[in-house]
Amino acid sequence: MAVRIDGKAVSAAVRARIKAETEEFIRATGVTPGLAVILVGSDPASQVYVKNKKKACEELGFYSESYDLPAETAEGELLALVEKLNGDSRIHGILVQLPLPAHIDEKKVIRAIVPQKDVDAFHAENVGHIMIGDYRFLPCTPAGVMELIHSTGVKVEGKECVVVGRSNIVGKPMAMLLLHENGTVTVCHSRTANLKEVCRRADILVAAVGRPRFVTADMVKPGAVVIDVGINRLEDKKLCGDVDYDAVEPVAGYLTPVPGGVGPMTITMLMKNTLAAAKATVE
Ligand code: NDP
Repeated sequence: MAVRIDGKAVSAAVRARIKAETEEFIRATGVTPGLAVILVGSDPASQVYVKNKKKACEELGFYSESYDLPAETAEGELLALVEKLNGDSRIHGILVQLPLPAHIDEKKVIRAIVPQKDVDAFHAENVGHIMIGDYRFLPCTPAGVMELIHSTGVKVEGKECVVVGRSNIVGKPMAMLLLHENGTVTVCHSRTANLKEVCRRADILVAAVGRPRFVTADMVKPGAVVIDVGINRLEDKKLCGDVDYDAVEPVAGYLTPVPGGVGPMTITMLMKNTLAAAKATVE
């Protein structure tokens, strides 16, 4: 039976460390880490994420500003706001909640954020830093996954690691972080042949597919660490991961639930990046 990896508990422990570091930083420098969160439109999932980010700022003693813009906001207006925040010394991190409405070019908006304030680590300059292993910021979700893997005590070095999904925000940076810890990494996607067999090789399996219960028991090596990044909303409104939890639980060695696994880690890592961004301004 797999050990359940408790994302809430790991996240709380990391947040306690960030809080202590933040208090010390404010005492030493008089600078309060500041995060600006921009939401365009009224996507219900995005509203929940933004609310949780504000709550995390309050909990950790950060300064925060939030901008709730209507869905019809023009691209130029959003870019002007980003530009204003780029120059605002109280703000160390700028987060534009994705997805944006179709008439706004996401890439252009991400490029407009100065890399020093790009706490999501989506800007090409920060992605480049991730590739060469010289981090300014760690990408939030993959960094959260690494914390969860570390919490198991299982070392990544020398392990077969399989990441299912190759998106720019999860799959690709995830593969890089595992590689930097000396895992032997395979990245799978919708054109991968023999996916089941490839997944079964994994000592560490990370699912970031966006399909409910995609990973079944016959895709999991006995004893493997299985991390479920997926957040899928079912017809009955319940949340469900990319891993068939009940079926995989008897096979895996460690397993994250959804909700309560990777989800709580992502915002915590965002706070870590915002503190790092604030620290960089006084170094
Ligand atoms: P994307 O849709 O951008 O990427 C999904 C990836 O899965 C693609 O690379 C795609 O392959 C691959 N894929 C889709 N179908 C299959 C298949 N049948 N076989 C193999 N691979 C397949 O999703 P994201 O990376 O943005 O997110 C993935 C999941 O993680 C989602 O459920 C999302 O909600 C969740 N998420 C959770 C976060 C958290 O905080 N916990 C944060 C971010 C995302 P291809 O490239 O070939 O199309």
